Amino acid sequence: MALRLAVRIASTVAIAVLAYLITSPLVRILAGGGWPLAAQVALWAAYGAVALAVVTILERDARVHVTRAAARRAAGEERARRLAASGEPFELGSTEFEGVVVAELAALPVWIRGELDARRVHLHTAEVREGAPNVLGLYERRPVAAGAFGGTTVDVDAAITLYRLPIMFHARTASRLGDVVRETLLHEVGHALGMSEDDLDRYSIGNQPRPDAIRVPRR
Ligand SMILES: [Zn+2]
Repeated sequence: MALRLAVRIASTVAIAVLAYLITSPLVRILAGGGWPLAAQVALWAAYGAVALAVVTILERDARVHVTRAAARRAAGEERARRLAASGEPFELGSTEFEGVVVAELAALPVWIRGELDARRVHLHTAEVREGAPNVLGLYERRPVAAGAFGGTTVDVDAAITLYRLPIMFHARTASRLGDVVRETLLHEVGHALGMSEDDLDRYSIGNQPRPDAIRVPRR
């Protein structure tokens, strides 16, 4: 509370001084040089009043925004909780989906994220793969630019893409979404680290896991 008051006073003074600096040359011209003390006091009072009004409006606006953001976040969390509890089919917007993907990436072991960074693998999300609507994720490497000065080096850009619509369809319920995102991400990370489909099929995250496939634990 004390901090808020201090900030309020400081911003009021700052705005008043700024207003003075901006307008004082003009006021001086209008007053024709010397102007009485009373006029100066009145002028400062006016600056102060305007500054206080500005600060009050800004503060109220900020409070409204903070309240709205908190309400939105609470509503989103509540919705996610309800969906997870109900086991009903669900719909998840692209921004929310991105949030889940980022969370699952952050939850991967540090060494894996280090490898992805070292290989400059970018993570993207998209709605659906054109011509292949059942594909949940994809790992691609593509040359981005030939080396300068006629050199032979070719820069390679690597990307993992996770597709929102098929992943949502595959998960069926909100409570399964995190697992499906995680498994898809791990599958593509496997490719990024050099594993083939055959290699991946030795694990539960393979496309056609072998009967004796090793279970990749859930988070
Ligand atoms: Zn694959």
